[in-house]
Amino acid sequence: MISLGKTDECLSRLGMLRHFPAKPAVIAEVGRLLNDLCGDDQAADRLTADLLRSNSEWPGPAAVREAAGRLVSGKAQRPQECPACGDMQGWRRVANVYDLDNRTDKIVRGSAGGHITQGEIAALRDQYPSPRWTVYDTAIEPCPHCEGGRRNA
Ligand SMILES: [Zn+2]
Repeated sequence: MISLGKTDECLSRLGMLRHFPAKPAVIAEVGRLLNDLCGDDQAADRLTADLLRSNSEWPGPAAVREAAGRLVSGKAQRPQECPACGDMQGWRRVANVYDLDNRTDKIVRGSAGGHITQGEIAALRDQYPSPRWTVYDTAIEPCPHCEGGRRNA
């Protein structure tokens, strides 16, 4: 259980993300989701910090569940740090480029072991400008370079 005050605080912080729901009923659902996923205030803090670190837009409930799962499994496998996925514990960040004209998308990997950096994502956004393309930076996939990645696959 997260305390009511902590739930409010986390919701306010998540409100910094673009496209965070504005409807009170939907915000209450997000609060329930946090309570589902986090056992205590500390876990809610960690999940909120993780979501703010890895997203600039509200990623939706599925990505929140995924982030919570990653934090839990990350605790168990902390010791080995993989150069390709770094502190993402067996997940690497990739970009998903959506082509609105052809309604197709493709995964774009980065140069450092496939893990894409914010700089590479910015370059992709220049290369694939809106409104035709949308570059999503919230996609992840199991890292093929480490034990953690094999466990996530
Ligand atoms: Zn890895």
